[in-house]
Amino acid sequence: MKWTLIFLLGSCLAETALGWTYHYSNKTMNWTQARQWCQTTYTDMVVIQNQKENDYLVSQLPNRTRSPYFWIGITKNHKNETWTWIGNNSTWIGEQSWAANEPNNNHSTEFCVEIYVNGGENRGKWNDEKCGNQKYPVCYQAQCNATSCSRGTCQETIKNITCLCEPGFEGDRCQTAVECPPLSEPDNGYHSCSGGSQTFNSTCQFNCNSGFRLIGSPGVTCGVTGVWSGPRPACASYKQALLAVAGCGAVSALCCICFCWMKHRKRKKLSQVRQLEEATNPASESQG
Ligand code: CA
Repeated sequence: MKWTLIFLLGSCLAETALGWTYHYSNKTMNWTQARQWCQTTYTDMVVIQNQKENDYLVSQLPNRTRSPYFWIGITKNHKNETWTWIGNNSTWIGEQSWAANEPNNNHSTEFCVEIYVNGGENRGKWNDEKCGNQKYPVCYQAQCNATSCSRGTCQETIKNITCLCEPGFEGDRCQTAVECPPLSEPDNGYHSCSGGSQTFNSTCQFNCNSGFRLIGSPGVTCGVTGVWSGPRPACASYKQALLAVAGCGAVSALCCICFCWMKHRKRKKLSQVRQLEEATNPASESQG
């Protein structure tokens, strides 16, 4: 019964794309009842965050030539309080939002706001009103939910939602992990990757066939930017590995011999210079 009533009273504005949708009732209510109706049927009473949204909302509402107009979700409890959008606690008010000579807080009792949808210069402007007056509620239905963005934060805009992806994920719904370049098998070896994929956070382990030895790091991980954490290792036969080690040893030994020989030559040269000085200048030695 309840849902039948909602169907009869409520009208969905012609907005079916992703992103929040605006809805209104064809039945007038006081402001408190209007908010309850919005919260029960949709998400909450409409929130307007900028002039563009204000203009869009007015373009979607039916024209009316006289009161009652539509309640919007901005209010204050007392005279000196800040006007606040109850849907998200924001406080946006544009320079052109209020109608001429409004808000006038007539009789100090106007703490709720209606939006004009008549023709002329007041169209889309706001007026503070007594919350107990009867007007049509305007609500919004949020489209972002826990499943809107697989790995990201959902942001609502008119006609669309936007997913801000976590590092390592991409796609319009952040549904795809960033891919690293495919790894080929090393010669004489093989590899396996966690989850069988080569995407963000996947780790691939390398192994060598029997008789071969791994040269390099045995595992690499796919990073947030789609780059592997290190180079692919290689598989060498034990003979090649031994030769490589021996080669390194030989090079080291050669370097050591060269260094020692150069040091020996330098010492020998210094000694010869000293002997020559002593032979050519024996007096300086005796005086010294
Ligand atoms: Ca007023």
